[in-house]
Amino acid sequence: IFTQVELAPADPILGLTDAFKADTRTEKVNLGVGIYKDESGSTPILKSVKLAEQKLLATENSKSYLGIEGVQAYNRVVQELLFGADHSVVKNKRALTAQAPGGTGSLRVAAEFLVRNTESKTIWVSNPTWANHQNIFKSASLGIEQYRYYNAQTHDKDFDAMLADLSQAKAGDLVLLHGCCHNPTGIDLNESEWQAIADLCLKQALVPLFDFAYQGFGVGVNEDAQGLRIVADTVPELLIANSFSKNFGLYNERIGAVTLVADSETTVAKAFSQVKSTIRGNYSNPPAHGALIVSTILADEGLSSLWESELKEMRERIAKMRTLFVETLKAEGVTQDFSFISRQNGMFSFSGLTKEQVAELKELHAVYIVGSGRISVAGMTRTNMPVICKAIAKVLS
Ligand code: PMP
Repeated sequence: IFTQVELAPADPILGLTDAFKADTRTEKVNLGVGIYKDESGSTPILKSVKLAEQKLLATENSKSYLGIEGVQAYNRVVQELLFGADHSVVKNKRALTAQAPGGTGSLRVAAEFLVRNTESKTIWVSNPTWANHQNIFKSASLGIEQYRYYNAQTHDKDFDAMLADLSQAKAGDLVLLHGCCHNPTGIDLNESEWQAIADLCLKQALVPLFDFAYQGFGVGVNEDAQGLRIVADTVPELLIANSFSKNFGLYNERIGAVTLVADSETTVAKAFSQVKSTIRGNYSNPPAHGALIVSTILADEGLSSLWESELKEMRERIAKMRTLFVETLKAEGVTQDFSFISRQNGMFSFSGLTKEQVAELKELHAVYIVGSGRISVAGMTRTNMPVICKAIAKVLS
């Protein structure tokens, strides 16, 4: 039976990491996967996380199962981070949250819950979007449509096209929105654009599904939630899949959450019972460690402010790398305008490099970026910058 199984294509992002690991060249650079690197090129454990783990080691007294929805205290602090503690959604108990394995697990739970329990069978995703979105939603049997988002000529968003495409969506269709730090373009909506999207969702009865994987990597923890809060102020029903992989550096703990918002406390309680049923049929209940770290940090004023300062340091280092990247390309003699890169948000930049140029970077210069031309700026350092920019200058010449 198994001999009939076709070989799966390599994953566009993680497959690149495998190829990178197998590369024996010494000056190789991996700017494929979205992992934060510090100036020394390593991905450290945050000090706030280490301190929380020390606290947990001293106090944790059982490894008994969690409930289906995970650590209760964690689910509360997730809502406060997403909406702000005083938001009416939180105060009126219109949201319920379940801890889930990373942003990916949260998206998958949200999608399966929708397919099994609602009329929503189609999801609109931006073109381009994170490479795994289609895979996750197809696995949950959602149909996929795309809305235009990016203008390759201006290296900016194409908001009119986004609105025009979404105006074709039917009542009950889902709209996937990147809360901030759009992956792969690094281009986000502004306040009035968010309001226009919220109004459109309300008018056409579309259901927003937020993918919120980079809170705090754009401008700040609250600033980055602006879009989500505008939509939650306008639209009665939505879902959020958030991740703490990046902003707490908890990549391998697989910690995120799925939050369901409905128009009343009663509706959300009833619908959420089906989110729990979806989880029970997948992995029964989540692992505890990541959630305990996050809730320990956020419940402690000292640890919270240490975390915020560590997050700020990561955000500011990436912003510096953006400017340095643009300057170093210029210094290497590149005449093409790359200044748009310093205006983008978050870990990624959509460079505009072609598939052929990306292949040449890998084959001839051992610089690995995703085929779409997406570069992880978070993997750049002062040390590897000259190597990267020299290679790009060569493929552009
Ligand atoms: N959504 C987006 C847009 C992402 O970039 C990522 C991570 N690359 C995720 C979701 C998934 O995050 P996690 O690793 O927590 O599953």
